[in-house]
Amino acid sequence: MRIAIRTGTLYDGSANPPRTRVTLLIENGRVGRIAGDGETVEADRTYEAACVVPGLINAHAHLEMNGEPDTQGIYLIRTPTERTLDAARNARLALEGGVTTLRDLGGKESNAVALRDAIAKGDHVGPTIVAAGRALCMTGGHGAFIGRETDGPWDARKGVREQLKAGASCIKLIATGGVLTKGAVPGLDQLSEEEMRAAIVEAHTHGLRVAAHAIGTNGIKNALRAGVDSIEHGHLLDDEAIELFKARGTYLVPTLAAVSCIYENAASGAQPDFVVRKATELYERAQVNIGKAWRAGVTIAGGSDAGTPYNRHQDYAYEVELMSTMLGMSAQQALVAATATAGALLGVDAGTLAPERPADLLLLDRDVGTDVGALRSPRVVIKGGVVVQTG
Ligand SMILES: [Zn+2]
Repeated sequence: MRIAIRTGTLYDGSANPPRTRVTLLIENGRVGRIAGDGETVEADRTYEAACVVPGLINAHAHLEMNGEPDTQGIYLIRTPTERTLDAARNARLALEGGVTTLRDLGGKESNAVALRDAIAKGDHVGPTIVAAGRALCMTGGHGAFIGRETDGPWDARKGVREQLKAGASCIKLIATGGVLTKGAVPGLDQLSEEEMRAAIVEAHTHGLRVAAHAIGTNGIKNALRAGVDSIEHGHLLDDEAIELFKARGTYLVPTLAAVSCIYENAASGAQPDFVVRKATELYERAQVNIGKAWRAGVTIAGGSDAGTPYNRHQDYAYEVELMSTMLGMSAQQALVAATATAGALLGVDAGTLAPERPADLLLLDRDVGTDVGALRSPRVVIKGGVVVQTG
């Protein structure tokens, strides 16, 4: 089936000015011709939209987490089967919310790996998934309640090999403490530079990219020197880290929604005290430090840490808004971070709209360039040329 979309403005994922009054043709799951005003386009079905953008890419999500207020606690009472069902539902909700590609950065089993394959086969509905399997963390460290405890360089290599065996398509390392694990201090180192370097050499040997959870200043720099492909969170980065990011071309995925959602819901009383305390301490420093990194030219890719408290998979548009309001990006720059740049980080054929590229796109009722909030409720979501049923 050939689908034509007449739109007022078309953002292609790049920083180029949007094209206006064009018709985009979709054929065989890919973008075909992009016709100018007045040209005739024949199609089986035609849509009209104020604005068309590439499908969003969430470079940091946890599909088996539902945004419950107590992440660590919920793992004690949810069964593996329930988590699998949650992951399948969250994948569908993410897609309905406009996320057509998603990187899952850690779960207790390999739910996201199986789901990736089931979605690719057409058995389930959801985004294209890039899955890390289980995160590698130090014994008793951040995320140990779901991660693969790892000590020493050779064990780090073995941990990578285990994820590869389970079908992972990327690797996640824990470089510092974090917010959601009781007793883990965000500012302190966890996996050592030596352990991370061993894991990264092993992962890169097999063509897998590596993301490192890193909040503390020293741990961020350890992970950068070890050669990770992206730093996740990065709240306490300093000037030396900024120079390392730029010299090595490492991406920063700021996950602004994660601390913001905890902070905004602090009064609910449902979150553990240690979670609220740690997120509150990081909230303002994240805005200052990451804003500085952005202005200094660090490459920022969009990722929300969806699944963490009050941070739902269908609300990824909020992360795009926060990149604009907290970091000072223009609406279009935030859109680029959440589409083309995130696609480049993941190494997937997604995130830009041009002839022959996959037809992953959103139809919006307002121009995102003047109103980034337009992403909150896409009128139509199309993935691989197929219109997603919403609502
Ligand atoms: Zn995470």
